[in-house]
Amino acid sequence: MSPTFLALCGCLLLGILHILLPRLVLQARRRELLALCRERRVVALSFDDGPSHLLTPMVVDRLGRAGVFASFFMLGERVRANERTVMRILDAGHEVGSHGATHVHHIWSWPWDGILDTIDGWRALHRITGRQPREILFRPPYGKLNLLSLMWVWWRRAPIAMWTHDGGDARDSDKLAPTALVDSIRRDGGGVVLMHDFDRVRPDEGQQVLAKLDALLQLKREGFTFLRVSDLLSLAPRQHPVVGPRPVIVTAEREEVGSGSR
Ligand SMILES: [Zn+2]
Repeated sequence: MSPTFLALCGCLLLGILHILLPRLVLQARRRELLALCRERRVVALSFDDGPSHLLTPMVVDRLGRAGVFASFFMLGERVRANERTVMRILDAGHEVGSHGATHVHHIWSWPWDGILDTIDGWRALHRITGRQPREILFRPPYGKLNLLSLMWVWWRRAPIAMWTHDGGDARDSDKLAPTALVDSIRRDGGGVVLMHDFDRVRPDEGQQVLAKLDALLQLKREGFTFLRVSDLLSLAPRQHPVVGPRPVIVTAEREEVGSGSR
């Protein structure tokens, strides 16, 4: 075999590994999350691409009224523009994680762009929380990593937080009804739900997000326990780092008390 052919084969193999290995790792994380949720009938609500000026405070208000704690995976550029909202989220007992700085697609950009964006996202949160990457949950934009960025995240020991159910609220074309979303969670015995708290151009789209959130919160009445993603990960047999305070377990019983008082 000629050296050129071997070099081509090597490049092809590396290219496949560049995409395939991270994909397999992230899929395994999803399966692990789903198994954990099923085991304990847990729902973990997560909100990506914020924080925003209008929608995030409304989401925090609703969660507060329901006595539920959630996870917010933020973009560094929006963290810098909405520092007060970040503080409000933390004060309310929710957790903040990183979603990069500018939502770079790690596969469809230069391999190092994903790393640089991830570092910038960590920096934005470090400035407010004082936390190191290993103490900040990281959710890759689009749920994608390349081989280099995966190695980088592993090297910095940042815990990766995927999701199991897409709320279908990111684009106008997503037409998943609130009842269909809740049914899929119910059928699967729990899950980590991905939603988005960025401000929409059309106000009614923001209302649709809130309608889905309201529908999901009804699952408390059916005995589902709501946890933050780090609380859920801390229950795994293979211990993940626990980010922030110890788990706050919110039971259906507590919800009953809360609903009576409002
Ligand atoms: Zn995103």
